[in-house]
Amino acid sequence: MNLDALFKISHGLYVTGARDTQDRLIGSCIDAVMVIETSPAQIMISLEKNSFTCENVLISQKLSLSVLPVDTPDDVIRNFGMQSSKITDKWKNVPYHLYQNLPVLDQAPAYMTLVITQRIETATHWVLLCDVQAVEPGSMAPALIYADYQNRKRKENKMTESKKWVCTVCGYVYDGEVPFEELPDDWTCPLCGEPKSVFVQE
Ligand code: FE
Repeated sequence: MNLDALFKISHGLYVTGARDTQDRLIGSCIDAVMVIETSPAQIMISLEKNSFTCENVLISQKLSLSVLPVDTPDDVIRNFGMQSSKITDKWKNVPYHLYQNLPVLDQAPAYMTLVITQRIETATHWVLLCDVQAVEPGSMAPALIYADYQNRKRKENKMTESKKWVCTVCGYVYDGEVPFEELPDDWTCPLCGEPKSVFVQE
């Protein structure tokens, strides 16, 4: 079994917004969102069980959902996805406005508020069936597709990995098939003949 295959089922990336029991604004980044039907409008989402946002959404029974635009900066995704609302006010780091008294991202191509009607517990998540209480199209930007985001990240990682090795004596740039690190110790610069040790990564 290769679970990577599941990423070929495409979906987007979204930011949830809600209020905790002290009325503070909270939220998280999620990918599992599905429009079940449009009349009446119903959406299914999945929230990580042990997240602070999930804990509070199960109490308040309502949340907002902002669709992320294609050009969403990585720090916005990290802001909502890599830290807990329990200790950080995530909304203070992004442009947002209140919609139906819940926070939504200013740049979202669409945003909505949801009211939970049913829920299913899995090993790690709560799957929530929600009525769409209100929904608006936002910016004209296309929505970010999760698979495209992953490909973008993969490309960026590859670019940082493939830094060039340059000879500090003559400026020769190594571009051989074999990764520079795997060249034998007695390998020398083909231009000036200096040893491997004079090369630096740029
Ligand atoms: Fe050289």
